[in-house]
Amino acid sequence: MNALESQLDYPLGDTIPAPGAVHALAPGVGWLRMPLPFALDHINLWLLGDEVEGRAGQSVVDCGAATDPTRAAWEQVFTGAMAGQDLLRVLATHCHPDHVGLSDWLCRRFDAAFWISAGEYGFARMMSAGLPGVDGPSAIPHFERHGLRAPELARMGERRNYYPSLVPAVPHAYTRLRDGQLVRIGAHRWRVIAGFGHSPEHASLYCAALNMLISGDMVLPRISTNVSVFAVEPEGNPLQLYLDSLGRFADLPEDTLVLPSHGKPFRGLHTRITQLREHHTARLAEVVQACAAPQSAADIVPLMFRRPLDAHQLSFALGEALAHLHKLWADGILRRETGTDGVIRFHLI
Ligand SMILES: [Zn+2]
Repeated sequence: MNALESQLDYPLGDTIPAPGAVHALAPGVGWLRMPLPFALDHINLWLLGDEVEGRAGQSVVDCGAATDPTRAAWEQVFTGAMAGQDLLRVLATHCHPDHVGLSDWLCRRFDAAFWISAGEYGFARMMSAGLPGVDGPSAIPHFERHGLRAPELARMGERRNYYPSLVPAVPHAYTRLRDGQLVRIGAHRWRVIAGFGHSPEHASLYCAALNMLISGDMVLPRISTNVSVFAVEPEGNPLQLYLDSLGRFADLPEDTLVLPSHGKPFRGLHTRITQLREHHTARLAEVVQACAAPQSAADIVPLMFRRPLDAHQLSFALGEALAHLHKLWADGILRRETGTDGVIRFHLI
């Protein structure tokens, strides 16, 4: 446990559910963990006791990626913890592949409804279909403009089928989640808290009666949430959106049990939000210092990430470096110029 993590409280200690097992957190609230084929090797899902039109069963928040190990873990859940029960609803916090990968598979199998925000639904459909602008190849000229060169650029090309391979299909219809909405799930009401900057319209869910927050990827205990500028929105300022969104959790109690998509359930929501703000403030200060001379986003990556990165991590690192540069650009601290070599660089005004 690092120094920052030691400021948080993990009430379940080292408990982690085995693949296919469900750990009860409260009556009607179960924790599942699914494997992921990345350095970040797991995602947490939340199984909630539910009742829809007089039918009792379970609903799940997030799905896992469309991989054989995740399908196998789900099969264990169906014959184990969920034996004899239907899955009534599939709710998704956001469109990233580990969250919606198996949404279509789950919804078809149980004739379950798919609940997600409109912004996330649209992006999930676009990316699963590999539409131009949000597909793998669109990232290449975007990264090239921001200073990435061979051989790293070629490594990015290997990711061309990344999203559709993990999200082969998304349900063809959905029910909209929107900010402030109260969603009744079984005996409880969960309030939707929209968040921006990590994904188009992320939905976290807070239940006051349980004092639990399903935070999705907006607040994670160990790692900072990825905040990236992507090819489809090349002048975006997602870091500002993300920092503003953290303020939307301000009215929640400090002892809220946070159920994050990655890592372990914890208490210390506001401590963690302060840590995240300080993390970005420190990164921004480093970027300002570096930009005394013109810097591309690719120049900034080794400054912000002082370890070797695989192709997957490099694409997130570059997007994240650009997010910090763009906030400083929007704040009027840096200016942005395209050089004669076609590369965009930033430097202090
Ligand atoms: Zn995510």
